[in-house]
Amino acid sequence: MTEMLRTHRDVPEFVRGGDRLMSIGGQWVPAASGQTLPNVDPATEEPLASVPRGGAADVDAAVRAARRAFADPEWADMTPDRRGRILNQIADVIEAHAEELATIDSVNMGAPRLVTDTMLAEASEAFRYFAGWPTKIFGTHVPTTGDRLGYTRKEPLGVVGVIWGWNGPMGQLPSKLAPALAAGNTVVLKPAETGSLSTLRLAELLETTDLPAGVVNVVTGLGAEAGEALVAHPDVAKIAFTGSTATGKHVQELASRTLKQVTLELGGKSPAVVFADADLRQAARGVAAGFHGNAGQACVATTRIFVQDSVREEFLALLTETMAAPPFVPGDPLTPGTVVGPLSTKTQFDRVSSYLDLAVAEGARVVTGGTRHGDRGYFVAPTLLDDTTSDMRVVREEIFGPVATISTFTDVDDAVAQANDTDYGLAASVWTTSLSTAHQVAARLEAGTVWINTWGEMSTGNLPFGGYKQSGIGREGGLEVLDAYTQTKTVLVAL
Ligand code: NAD
Repeated sequence: MTEMLRTHRDVPEFVRGGDRLMSIGGQWVPAASGQTLPNVDPATEEPLASVPRGGAADVDAAVRAARRAFADPEWADMTPDRRGRILNQIADVIEAHAEELATIDSVNMGAPRLVTDTMLAEASEAFRYFAGWPTKIFGTHVPTTGDRLGYTRKEPLGVVGVIWGWNGPMGQLPSKLAPALAAGNTVVLKPAETGSLSTLRLAELLETTDLPAGVVNVVTGLGAEAGEALVAHPDVAKIAFTGSTATGKHVQELASRTLKQVTLELGGKSPAVVFADADLRQAARGVAAGFHGNAGQACVATTRIFVQDSVREEFLALLTETMAAPPFVPGDPLTPGTVVGPLSTKTQFDRVSSYLDLAVAEGARVVTGGTRHGDRGYFVAPTLLDDTTSDMRVVREEIFGPVATISTFTDVDDAVAQANDTDYGLAASVWTTSLSTAHQVAARLEAGTVWINTWGEMSTGNLPFGGYKQSGIGREGGLEVLDAYTQTKTVLVAL
């Protein structure tokens, strides 16, 4: 496999080397401290371009620029249809540069092109969906008494701080940036420190649209520095966050000091429930995709598999057979058809490796995988763990690698009880040919999204997405998301 890896020369110029700058108020600047953060190609372990290590001073400059842009009539009084046209221009520019942006993400954080291509296609669709909204966000006339006129206005919040993860930089950003702009907010973006390059390139591309300077600002840097400064800043009205549950709790705590609104898209430990009447071959493929895609670094990854006891052996055989064949064998993220790339960073590789050791120490049986894959790059062999119990840490904690556990259930009640036995509630999949089993189980699962006989299909536009329990607060997509980026003002007039 390692012979197939590309050489460093094949990666796009933008990521290959040098020091990138960040965009504040329409200017390209280094961090005030002059410090930078390195990036490493996780497939080759070669160094890539560095990004500024922004801190509190840079965040403050970006928030001030965003506030100025928010008050500037050029943006504040822009007609809704013009704002919609700008969102369509952003969709156009993303579409035109989709290949470049997808490649940057694939090189920067190791996601296969299959994954980044899908994210970029969804990104432009998200901007197109939200381009239709500025003309349709309005308040209502509220009946009061005959000599009074009561009505409401839907107004933007102000400056929105957007913080998100490295596992899908161009996947997680549009579902926040597009509604924020559609509603008339201005934004400060803080991408993950190990996945910032595509956002910096996108910010360059936004300069070719009619978006006024300062409406979108980017500060790169560490979570504990730039991230905290953004969450704590008194002039930021809202934080839209995607990341781990632990960080999300911290963000909510910090944001509460200035009573900011927060939406949180957090971690998961999503179950797949496979009934005996399912098309088992289809289920094996769907379940495998659920923990192999993006090397398991997906918030909705299928990490706990529950199979009905009567078909356990048959399903296990089909699943291991599926895992051993293409496209589930790890490969270079830039090679067409690769589904499993490397883990994104050395830290992530070490973390997942330590969970593999822990699984054995806790008494789990490694059915397949359990080790590093190859000898170069941060590849982990996709791993299936059997003989697990619900109290094991590998069953309870989000590993964020290509690792799943498998156990059995007897009937619907048992399946639902086991699937819901988790602090998380982001997603689930149900595999059955019975219509009534499918809908009954979907209703009883504590998860923000339930897929039936499929996994991972998303719509960044009109389908709501978000977590139950400790997987998050709020929804992205759909009608609900606009409430998360607007506030309602009541006006009462004495006639
Ligand atoms: P993370 O929480 O470590 O980091 C996410 C972002 O938060 C990064 O930009 C980071 O710099 C920033 N950050 C870190 N500490 C901070 C702090 N103290 N204050 C402010 N910002 C801070 O998460 P990650 O490792 O980058 O991403 C993986 C996690 O994200 C997983 O748990 C995954 O399930 C979750 N995720 C959730 C969704 C979803 O939509 N629910 C989608 C993708 C990923």
